[in-house]
Amino acid sequence: MRVRTVFNRILGLDGTAVVGVVFTGDEAVVTVRRVAKVHRCPCGCRVPGRYDRSVRRWRHVDACGMKMWLEAEVARIWCPDCERVRTEDVPWARPGARHSQAFEDTVAWLATRMDKTSLAQLMRCSWEAVDRIVGRVVVERLDDSRLNNLVRIGVDEISYLRGHRYLTVVVDHDTGRVVWVGKGHGVETLEEFYRELGFLRRKKLKAVTMDASSAYISATRTMAAQAVICIDPFHVIKWTNEALDAAFRNSAIPTLKAQMKQARTNAPWRKARFALRAGRQKLRQEHHKILKVIRAERTELHKVYLLKEELRDLFQIIDPGQADSYLRDWVQRAAGSGSSAFRSLAQKIVRHADGIIAAVELGLSNSRSEGVNTKIRVIQRRGYGHPKAQSLATMIYLCCSGIQISLPTQR
Ligand SMILES: [Zn+2]
Repeated sequence: MRVRTVFNRILGLDGTAVVGVVFTGDEAVVTVRRVAKVHRCPCGCRVPGRYDRSVRRWRHVDACGMKMWLEAEVARIWCPDCERVRTEDVPWARPGARHSQAFEDTVAWLATRMDKTSLAQLMRCSWEAVDRIVGRVVVERLDDSRLNNLVRIGVDEISYLRGHRYLTVVVDHDTGRVVWVGKGHGVETLEEFYRELGFLRRKKLKAVTMDASSAYISATRTMAAQAVICIDPFHVIKWTNEALDAAFRNSAIPTLKAQMKQARTNAPWRKARFALRAGRQKLRQEHHKILKVIRAERTELHKVYLLKEELRDLFQIIDPGQADSYLRDWVQRAAGSGSSAFRSLAQKIVRHADGIIAAVELGLSNSRSEGVNTKIRVIQRRGYGHPKAQSLATMIYLCCSGIQISLPTQR
C-alpha cells in the first residue's frame, strides 16, 4: 500500500485527499488538498476563481507519538456576499484556526473532563491555544435559540481572582442549563442580559431567582417588572449556615475542647462544624454523637441548630400553602433564640420574606443552581479562567450550556 493511501486511511478526513507525506525528526507533515474543485467562503458562498494563494499548516492530532501537521495550499477569494477578500474554507479546520477540527474537538472534549495543565501537556500545546480553541468551539456550538422561551431563570454571581472579580451567570431553571454569562455583578451587567433578551422574550419571564443582591433586584424590577423575584433557597441556607458558624464560634464546648487537646489537631472541631452545617440526611453515627454532646453542653447552640434544620424543611417538606405562616413562626422563634447572629438573620429573612415564599410556592428548588455552582467551582479548580474573565466565561458555556462535544473517533 502506498504511503499516501495509508495516511488517507489513518487521517480519515472528509472531503480531503492526501498528496504526500514528509517525515522530519519526530514530526510528520502531511500535504493535503480539498477534493471539491470550487472554493468556498466561510459564509457558505461558492466562488469559482481565486484572488491569490499561499501554503499553510495546521496542527493535527498526534499519531504514534509523532506530531502531525497538515499542510495545504489555500486560496484567498473575493466573496460577492461578504464583499471582501477572505481566506477560503477548508474541510479539515475551522475558519481562522491553526489546528485541525479533530485536534480542536479533542481539546474541547478533554477540557470538560481534565485540568488545563495536564491537557496542555497531553496535547503538546500552550494554555493560550487551549483558550483559543475552547472559544472557537463555543462560538460554533452555542445554541442561539437558548434565550428563547425562558420562563423561570436563576441569576447568580461567580467570583474569581480570589474574589476580586465577578461574573454574572444566568441559568434556565427548566433545563438546568447556563444560558448567559456576563462580566461584573452590577445593575448594568444584568440589564445587558435583559437587553439582549429583547422586549418580547423578557415579557415571557415569570420568575427570576437570585440572592438578595440589590443590583439584581433593581435590574429585574426595571426591565422585567412582571416577573416574580424569588430568593434562591441556596442563598437562604447559606446565610443560615453563616449565622450558625457565628454561634458555634462563640460557644466553647468543654468535651470538644478536651478532644482537640487530646488529638492535638482541630479535626474534632471540623467534624462538629460539619455535623452542625450539613443536612440531616448526610450525618453519620459520629456526627449524631457530637450533636448529643452539643445538646447537653450548649443548649442555646443546639437550639439554633434546630432552627437551621427547620428552615431547611421549609424548602423540602413544608406544604407551599403553609409556607407563609411557617416562615412567620420561624422568624419569631429565631428572633427570640438569644443568639445575636440569628436575630440579625431573622431581620434579613423578614426583609426578603416575599421572595423566599415565592420560591417555595413556585417550587423553585435550589438543586439546579447549586448543581451549576458546583460545576463552575470544579472548572475553576481545574485551572480554567485565570486570570481572564473571557476564558472562564467560555468554559462555563462549554461545560454548562448543553454543548455536546464528540471525539473524532466517536463520529
Ligand atoms: Zn463570504
